[in-house]
Amino acid sequence: MRQLRDLLQQAQQNGQAIGHFNVSDFVLLKAVFTAARELNVPVVVGLSEGEREFVGTRQIAAFVRNLREQFDFPIFLNADHTHSLAKGIEAAEAGFDSIVFDLSSLPIEENMRQTKQAIEALKAINPSMLVEGEIGDIGSGSEIHDSSPDLSKGLSTPEEAKQFVEATGVDILAPAVGNMHGMLRSMVKGETKKHLDIQRISGIKKAARVFLTLHGASGTDDEDLRKAIGAGINIVHINTELRVAWRRGLETALAKQPDEIVPYKILPSVVNSVRDAVGPRLKLFSGTQLVQKV
Ligand SMILES: [Zn+2]
Repeated sequence: MRQLRDLLQQAQQNGQAIGHFNVSDFVLLKAVFTAARELNVPVVVGLSEGEREFVGTRQIAAFVRNLREQFDFPIFLNADHTHSLAKGIEAAEAGFDSIVFDLSSLPIEENMRQTKQAIEALKAINPSMLVEGEIGDIGSGSEIHDSSPDLSKGLSTPEEAKQFVEATGVDILAPAVGNMHGMLRSMVKGETKKHLDIQRISGIKKAARVFLTLHGASGTDDEDLRKAIGAGINIVHINTELRVAWRRGLETALAKQPDEIVPYKILPSVVNSVRDAVGPRLKLFSGTQLVQKV
C-alpha cells in the first residue's frame, strides 16, 4: 500500500485533490468508505479532538487500518485540529497517517516555535506521519452559523506562508483563503455559496512549495473548488455537509419507520444519505474523467 505522501504527489501531478471527510461514528465512516470505493479514489477520514474523544483514538485507528488492509484500499486517517502536543502524540502512537497541528489562534511567532517542536516530537514516533500547520483565521466549529464572522483580517499572505514553512518544516500548510469552518443557514439551503481567493492560493503555493489543504470547504462553489485545486490545493476538507446529511438522513429514516428499533434496519439509509453527499465532492476533487485504478 502506498503512503499518503505518494498519493498526494500523484494527485498533484494529475491536477486532482484528495478529499478529507470528518467522521464521528460508524455510519459516517461507512458512508465515506463506500463513496470512495465506488469511485475508486483515495480518501482521508479525519477526526478532531472532540470526534476522537467520542470514537476512541486507538479504536478508530484499528478500524481504518483494518479497512485499508482487508480491502487493500487507500483510506488514510488524519488527526484533525489538534491543539496540544499531548493529543498529537496520542494520535501518532495510535498510527494516524497525518496530523493537523493547529496553533493558528496564537501569534505567528509562537505558532511557528511550537509547531516546529511538535514536528520533531511526532516524527520521532512515526517518521512517515505528515504534519500540517495552520495559519490565518478561518473561524471554528463545523456547524450551522447564523451570521458570517469577519475573517478578512485573518487571510494568509504568500510571505507569511513562506516564512511559516521555512521556519517549521511542515509537510502541509493550511492557509486562510476565503474558506471558513461551518456553513451559514443560507448555504445549507443552497441559496448562497462560499467563494475563494484563487489568486491568493496561487501566490501561496508558489511561495510555500508544499502541499496545501483547504479547510472548511462545505458550501463552497464548485467552480471555485476546481480553480482552487488547479491553483495548488491538494487536500479538501468537508465536514458540515456530511453532518447535515447525517442528521437529515436520520430524521427521514426515523420518520419513515416510527416503530422500528433495529439499528441495522434504520441506519443503512443514513449511510446512503451521507454517501450521496460525499460522492459528488469526491468526483469534483478528482476530476470527472477519473475512475482509474489507484
Ligand atoms: Zn478544519
